Amino acid sequence: MTTTALWDELLVGDELAHLGSEPAREARTAPLPDSLQPAVLDALARREIHELYAHQADAYAAAQSGGNVIVTTGTASGKTLAFNLPVLDALAADRHARALYLYPTKALAQDQARSLGDLGIPAVRAAIYDGDTPTERRRQIRGWANLVLTNPDMLHIGVMPRHDVWGDFLHNLRFVVVDEAHVYRGVFGSHVANVLRRLRRLARIYGTEPQFLLASATIANAGELALALTGEEAIVVEDDAAPRAERTVALWNPPLLDAELGLRASALGEASRLLAGLVGRGLRTICFAKSRKSAELIHRFASDRLDAATAARLAPYRAGYTPQQRREIERRLVEGDLLGVTSTDALELGIDIGDLDCAISVGFPGTVASLRQQWGRAGRREHGLAILIASEDALDQYFMREPPALLERHVEAAILDHANPRVLDGHVAAAAFEAPIDDGDAATLGPEALERAPHVPELRQTRRGWVWAGKDAPAPRVPLRSTSPDAFLVVDASSGDVLGLAERERAYSTVHEGAVYLHLGRQYLVRELDLQAQRALVEPFDGDWYTQAKKETETSIEEPLRVERRLGLELSFGRVSVTERVVAYQKKAAADGSTLDTVPLNLPPTTFDTEAVWFVPRPHQLEGLEAMPLLLSSLHAAEHSLIALLPLWAMCDRWDIGGLSTNLHLDTGAPTVFVYDGHAGGVGIAARGFDQFEGWVADTAELLAGCPCERGCPSCVQSPKCGNLNEYLDKAGALTLLTRMSNSG
Ligand SMILES: [Zn+2]
Ligand SMILES: [Zn+2]
Repeated sequence: MTTTALWDELLVGDELAHLGSEPAREARTAPLPDSLQPAVLDALARREIHELYAHQADAYAAAQSGGNVIVTTGTASGKTLAFNLPVLDALAADRHARALYLYPTKALAQDQARSLGDLGIPAVRAAIYDGDTPTERRRQIRGWANLVLTNPDMLHIGVMPRHDVWGDFLHNLRFVVVDEAHVYRGVFGSHVANVLRRLRRLARIYGTEPQFLLASATIANAGELALALTGEEAIVVEDDAAPRAERTVALWNPPLLDAELGLRASALGEASRLLAGLVGRGLRTICFAKSRKSAELIHRFASDRLDAATAARLAPYRAGYTPQQRREIERRLVEGDLLGVTSTDALELGIDIGDLDCAISVGFPGTVASLRQQWGRAGRREHGLAILIASEDALDQYFMREPPALLERHVEAAILDHANPRVLDGHVAAAAFEAPIDDGDAATLGPEALERAPHVPELRQTRRGWVWAGKDAPAPRVPLRSTSPDAFLVVDASSGDVLGLAERERAYSTVHEGAVYLHLGRQYLVRELDLQAQRALVEPFDGDWYTQAKKETETSIEEPLRVERRLGLELSFGRVSVTERVVAYQKKAAADGSTLDTVPLNLPPTTFDTEAVWFVPRPHQLEGLEAMPLLLSSLHAAEHSLIALLPLWAMCDRWDIGGLSTNLHLDTGAPTVFVYDGHAGGVGIAARGFDQFEGWVADTAELLAGCPCERGCPSCVQSPKCGNLNEYLDKAGALTLLTRMSNSG
């Protein structure tokens, strides 16, 4: 019996929305470059690497030519070696040369440091420099290491403001490696883009211009991302030459329990059934869930379906394990002692657990890049099986009906906007603290930085340029994951740990008193939101409900920036001001979404400026829908479904997007639909929607046309974050409007 047959008998029934296969691929190789240093060649020989994949050789050649490079090939295609080779080669050739590696998490930096150490090249002295590095070690690392691994936050707060003690390192900085570059998008990416521009400026002040080597999961716009992140062009290496085993791909849709309401069986139940079935056949399987609670439930349900001996070979895996516990689980998996692991996506970011037979993703993880990374665990060397089990979310259900949209198209782009003043101003201040800013700095910081300098309150213009006249260093006041400096801290009251930040404009709807807050897959209940101290106190929560805020939203148009005739109507992109007032929240049962309780809240309104795309349908497009409340319900349903599908075009979360629809807007004097960037200042999401409007509207009309429900459901027009709690939604009206728009194109 072949492996394939083992899972064949499981993958049957109406639940199977798609079954396909991605063919095996032969490796395309290239000889090791002659110019490599003997020490590097020795290290490769010890690891029995006698040739390269073609894309690794391409990346090496591109780096040798002096350019910046971004490598964007598949999971496990040897991206690491692609950027390591030019760096190791340079360090081996020149004992003065220095390299800086940036990782989004400490765990990833640790993994990379370990594998660099394993290479055993004597000239390479790698060290991690992050928040955990003891003070007494720091000075030693600065003097000794020629390859420093850190994260953007440490570079921003711990390194650049103290550049005088890093002078030697900066002077000799040859390469900056930015791994997992697709993670730097949205708010975080917009900040990191400024951090990298500041780094380029400091390097220039110390007399050098480092080359940037980036590696990213496959995305639609690798070259654009490299340029947006660094401010410089990069050579794109994307032709993946690594070998691949055949992979069977299954899309699995839990059965419809109530077609009229669009109610489906639980994805967790389906996941446990498949997991138990695969493990029961001796197949090593990893199952990814969106929250820790879900991962634990799948683990429990799957165990219940198996005999005790097999159930003992299942384990949950989660963030928060010590490195030793992680290694232990990884070892047991590799040795085949463990057969099944359920995990949150904490595992997703590149940590190696070797070769498994099957990977199950429970719910679309938000981006195709993440899904591919999860699926990349299955069948690296031998025929593997990858499964996506759909949740009731609109995007998941869209993929179940349109598998090519998921499996063939390559539409997601990682977007960011370093010039958002809410992001940029803090970095202009930080740059001025590091060294006076003059016109020459436009080349590295960008012309926008010079334009913002007069507006940053604590800068003074002097003969040396713009200098910092404030008291303390500004960088620590600029968190890299928020667009507002006055973000709220989310603190675990049981441990005192800071879990995260919530921007003020989102804090009232996400961490209000009584809210259930999700962090790294764990649930917390908000005990108290202290408006004065800007702090939310939370505690671990094990209940089986979630919360949804009810809010009143208003928008006013500040400045249209682009107005075009598109799809037969006037489409605008520009700056808007959004005012929100959270007035209540509902407790909803996790099992079926039913409302358990409605609790009023008394919170002040918040106002923020952001970017939006908006449109005013023409009278003929609204014909037959003019009566109230049908008009409002049709616009509102169209807004929701548009928001649900925008992440297909712009790599973001639906929680990053807001919307408003009204039968009469004061500024347009007409029925209007707004879709706005949920982060103050905007990070490029609405702009992407404007650019891709035709495709976006066509996809959305298709989503509505294909949903089997009668009058709207969570898989089409209902939204888990609707401020009106999903009242006034008309699916048919929205479909009529969007179809007419699409046909006008
Ligand atoms: Zn529906
Ligand atoms: Zn709504």
